[in-house]
Amino acid sequence: MIAHLINTDVGDRGVLELYLDYRKRNFNFLHNSAKLFLNNYGKVLIVTGFPIPPMNVPETDGPPGALAIYRTVTSLGGEADILTQKEVVKAMMPFQRALSLRFAREPDVSSYDLVIFIETPGRAGDGNHYSMSGLPIRGETFDWVAERAREHGVSTIGIGDGGNEIGMGKIRDLVIRHVPLGEKIASVVETDELILSAVSNWGAYGLIAEASIELGRNLLDGWEEAFVVRLLVENGLIDGVRGKREVSVDGIPIEVHRKIIETLELLVVETLNSELRSAPRD
Ligand code: ZN
Ligand code: ZN
Repeated sequence: MIAHLINTDVGDRGVLELYLDYRKRNFNFLHNSAKLFLNNYGKVLIVTGFPIPPMNVPETDGPPGALAIYRTVTSLGGEADILTQKEVVKAMMPFQRALSLRFAREPDVSSYDLVIFIETPGRAGDGNHYSMSGLPIRGETFDWVAERAREHGVSTIGIGDGGNEIGMGKIRDLVIRHVPLGEKIASVVETDELILSAVSNWGAYGLIAEASIELGRNLLDGWEEAFVVRLLVENGLIDGVRGKREVSVDGIPIEVHRKIIETLELLVVETLNSELRSAPRD
């Protein structure tokens, strides 16, 4: 249900068929990702930041989800660091105090239990990084982190919505089949688990919702999506589809994002309450 909700193709951008095929191949992808997360949240590296050509300004998809995962890890008693481009570090500054944010510069990947990539460009077959429209991306990229994690046996989760992100190497054939320009833009970079979603931030919230159900505790409580996106935009990020500094994500109005999270949270609370109701009493 949660996997379906986070793959609601609001922008009609064609992610639906990719999702249905992926779901057939890996039915429990969200559940397995939540398990991997809950077994490895002690020390987590969160990687995000997608520069949008031609100006290569990073977008509003990715950083909000990264902040939400950061908050979740620390509220569970784990440690986290964020690795991202300097423009995103700057945009996240208003949150530094409230969330006690820590940023990594040249992290020792082997020292982490888990690396989560959210909306991070992944190398395509020809070695370049591409936007959905097939334009080359200039800016700091982080494929090396995925490679280092693999070398050292550090667990990885990729979260993406288009096929050109780190993690999509796992389903490159499906991206080529369903995504326009798939052959050119599909990333070859793989992660252990892959969360596919219609908007990458929703993939992060879906992971948190699924982990909430596993754990029996609502970890989405108090997340203010509109507030977070507005502050990030005021500090330099843009809507990646509109290419402008607007308080929206992937061309979808902020109110839709708010409602998706509200629905996720309702599902979590309802599931936890119904478990309580059906629990044996003595
Ligand atoms: Zn994307
Ligand atoms: Zn996106």
